[in-house]
Amino acid sequence: MPELPEVESAKRSLQRVIRGKVIASVEVRSPSAVRTHRPQAFADALAGKRIERVSRRGKTLLFQLSGGWTLIFHFKLWGTLRFVRPAVPPDAQTAVVIAFSDGSSLHFRELQLSELGLHRTPQLDRVAYLASLGVDPLSPTFTPARFRQMLAGRGSIRALLTDQERIAGIGNLWAHEILHAARIRPDRPASSLTPAETRVLHRSIRSVLRRAIAAGGEPEFVDAAGRMGRWRLAVYGRAGQRCPRGDGTIKEARLGGRPSFYCPACQH
Ligand SMILES: [Zn+2]
Repeated sequence: MPELPEVESAKRSLQRVIRGKVIASVEVRSPSAVRTHRPQAFADALAGKRIERVSRRGKTLLFQLSGGWTLIFHFKLWGTLRFVRPAVPPDAQTAVVIAFSDGSSLHFRELQLSELGLHRTPQLDRVAYLASLGVDPLSPTFTPARFRQMLAGRGSIRALLTDQERIAGIGNLWAHEILHAARIRPDRPASSLTPAETRVLHRSIRSVLRRAIAAGGEPEFVDAAGRMGRWRLAVYGRAGQRCPRGDGTIKEARLGGRPSFYCPACQH
């Protein structure tokens, strides 16, 4: 499931190539992918609009269009975006094709539960999913003090890191990579972290996410230019393998009904 580093990588790879392009036509090959409009109405509304800006909120991509509209792409379980030059026909996995006036196009592929929606830009704050999102962990407003306040509630630290209504963009994979970097076990009650651990974890959230973006995300992710993520996973999905610190073997457990990975030797 794409998380903040993958969606940010997709955003950056798209921003470079589609900003300023004008939409010539739209083909909706899988009507269920578009939640706000019927296929023809969706295509009619997008035709002639220019892509002014690509941005991200949490795990969501936003395409700001001329005329006061924003196209929202909400990655859910999976989904890939592919920017293609002329003469690349869509394949069976392609749900929506946006064709630009210069002959290039953007393919939305493998949209397993992903959603596309078209909304009035001034009314974005009324889109329920966006309105519910917590602070972006890379924004200046995600301060150590604000993070410390979030730890007061019940639940594990893993649950806190992946709660989109408190911190937007971190899912199960990156929560585990961050907790390994901070040497904290995922099942620790959030409220049990010491001030020193809290400072280290706050720093790890930002540094792991920034390095993950620079690496293009996790290894299975493919950006809009077709580049794979280059992050080497430390713990996620590596049960039974050696910890990168060389001090132990990665364990897998269940935590809140989801898989959890950690090194018992260096995470406490
Ligand atoms: Zn270790």
